[in-house]
Amino acid sequence: MSLEKKYHLKIRTRIMLLYLGLSILLIGITIPGIFYAISKALNDSLESLMSETIKEVEKSIVLDNGELIIQNNEVLEEKLLRNGEIFVLVECPDNENLYLGYGAEEAFEWYKEEKAWKRKSQKLAADNKEITITAIGNAYYNNTLDKVLDMLIWLIPLYLIITAIFTYFMAKTMLNPITRIIHITKEIKNGNWKSRIKGINTNDEIGELAKAFNEMISEIDDSYSREKRFTSDASHELRTPLSIVGACADEALNTNDEFIIKENLETIQAESDRMSTIISQLLTLSRGYEGRYSFECEEIELRDSVESVIEIFADELAKKQITVHNNISSEMHLYADQGMYTQILINVISNAIKYGKQRGNIWLNSDEKESYLWLIVKDDGIGISEEDLSHIFERFYRADSSRNRDGSGLGLSIVKWMVDVHHGQINVESELNEGTTIGIGIPLIKR
Ligand code: ADP
Repeated sequence: MSLEKKYHLKIRTRIMLLYLGLSILLIGITIPGIFYAISKALNDSLESLMSETIKEVEKSIVLDNGELIIQNNEVLEEKLLRNGEIFVLVECPDNENLYLGYGAEEAFEWYKEEKAWKRKSQKLAADNKEITITAIGNAYYNNTLDKVLDMLIWLIPLYLIITAIFTYFMAKTMLNPITRIIHITKEIKNGNWKSRIKGINTNDEIGELAKAFNEMISEIDDSYSREKRFTSDASHELRTPLSIVGACADEALNTNDEFIIKENLETIQAESDRMSTIISQLLTLSRGYEGRYSFECEEIELRDSVESVIEIFADELAKKQITVHNNISSEMHLYADQGMYTQILINVISNAIKYGKQRGNIWLNSDEKESYLWLIVKDDGIGISEEDLSHIFERFYRADSSRNRDGSGLGLSIVKWMVDVHHGQINVESELNEGTTIGIGIPLIKR
């Protein structure tokens, strides 16, 4: 076990220790500070009271018939009583105790025994004699402060223990969602991609983390499932032509009939063409998803581009005797990537031919609407059912009504991706046995 691991502390323990340390530090600074301040304030007030009392007494000492006496003894007594715990003794060489205030005798006895007394004395000369005025005051608060301190010696550890326990459990409760997140992460690591963090208050930071975590896992799960489906669909699509190629090769090898051999070789050629089309479509799509494609917009003359694509399909159009009505005006221009836009045209027009009827029609129109330049390709072919319509942009999706082996189900996925790259839009309307209208809108702004 490494040293780091051996001394590894859980966050809740660290929070508890931190809080405990902080509490000890604060108590260590504040309690002595408060005690010192209180004691100093009380001391100062006692000191000033004693000084005032001494001044009062000093004023009362007079010489009467050659003898030192205290004038207005009652008044002074009353004042001293008002001052409370201050006791006064006036000493003079002739008359040892010139004045002894009320209760001062006992007080001066206690003063000798107890420490909680303060003393202040002042000497003065009168009638060539040195008089000493002594005041003592009871610093009783020192005892009170000592008692409070005794209590605190027990209370502080109790407070620290309660604080430590409370902080530990509070941190544990607060960190519970994180423990759950760790648990779910482990479950996901073990392959349970459907696990999600549940029951967490989404209003705080940990809730936000859990929400973002769930969203991230859903996203990864979706793309993982998509990839899995894509790989299995792709291998399924390629397995069919491959087994046809295998069967044709077997048949050709086991016969001397030249006609059968030729027929099989033609099938092998057609299937290998089909496979290379599927593979190049797959490559286009996977490059798209990985973001590995070049995209450079330039001005395109719509009518010209459409006409050159129609020329590519001249044979198929002639074979099916389909009439193309090209109503696109030669003034229509758009900004798009030439390669991608041509691919869009090829896929959409080839579908109109593939799913068009014998002696049918294809209408090509354009329109500038809502800041898009729309190319509308309409056919009067087999159409698409309402149910299929929502799936035709999914990879490898082929509508039941048209389950022929001509298509791969990738053409419209490629169109969708390329239109998305252009920030464009696609509209499809179709009715079974009536025909399909597909509109491709590319933004008019120059990129
Ligand atoms: P495919 O290679 O099969 O044509 P696409 O992705 O281009 O693949 O089209 C997906 C499905 O949408 C097709 O299999 C077809 O059923 C339907 N579809 C597309 N275009 C048309 C159309 N013009 N008329 C009828 N059905 C169409």
